[in-house]
Amino acid sequence: MTEELLYAGKAKSVYGSDRADELIVVFRDDITAFDGGKKDVIAGKGEFNARVSARLYDLLEGRGIPTHFIALEGPARMRVRRLKMIPLEVIVRNIAAGSLVRRYPFVEGTPLDPPLIVIDYKDDSLHDPMLNDDIILALGLLTREELGEVKRFALRVNEVLQELFADLGIQLVDFKIEFGRDADGKIRLGDEISMDSMRLWDIRTGASLDKDVYRFEKGDVLATYGQVASRILGED
Ligand code: 5GP
Repeated sequence: MTEELLYAGKAKSVYGSDRADELIVVFRDDITAFDGGKKDVIAGKGEFNARVSARLYDLLEGRGIPTHFIALEGPARMRVRRLKMIPLEVIVRNIAAGSLVRRYPFVEGTPLDPPLIVIDYKDDSLHDPMLNDDIILALGLLTREELGEVKRFALRVNEVLQELFADLGIQLVDFKIEFGRDADGKIRLGDEISMDSMRLWDIRTGASLDKDVYRFEKGDVLATYGQVASRILGED
């Protein structure tokens, strides 16, 4: 088995596997915010994010959204299809919060109906600048057809996740997903969908249940992630 480290990001490491078309993603306990300006290690966080991501990918596959997910192979290890990642952060917003409120005259907590799709260029050194359709096409990041597909997938992911979270007493405020192309050129959901990449508010109390707890020091990050994982995985 060749487990060569291929790539280490801020919170995950990607290794080669025994199959050329499959990779192993290890969800680490590192947590960062503000383009890596704030960082810590929270033992146990990687496992919660891996288990939640696996559950959500499984759910999405069942609803017709192609993902890279194959199987969980250990507490924080996920086997995935090898994708060529597209350097875009596709953000879907149901409620105004975060950078939308900081950069535009939205009032925090305002419902956005229909949901907004915002696509950023994934590059910390450029501070993930927001793109528009023309820039995405001019940079050759997606074809026009793929851009339509990415937006359709993003809205479908939103529908499926909103339904799940509403049943769990959680409001899906916004989330970020990333896509890649598999060996056949087919677009699939990659990366992760976890408490690091979603903004979640408790419907009853309004409390943050996501990385905002870390970003803005709102409480116990591990306990919060554990609580959300339990609700999603049905271990309450
Ligand atoms: P905002 O633009 O308000 O900072 O983020 C919108 C949503 O996308 C939030 O749920 C946030 O967690 C997620 N998001 C935006 N950028 C990143 C990023 O670089 N990494 C991760 N993990 N999530 C991000």
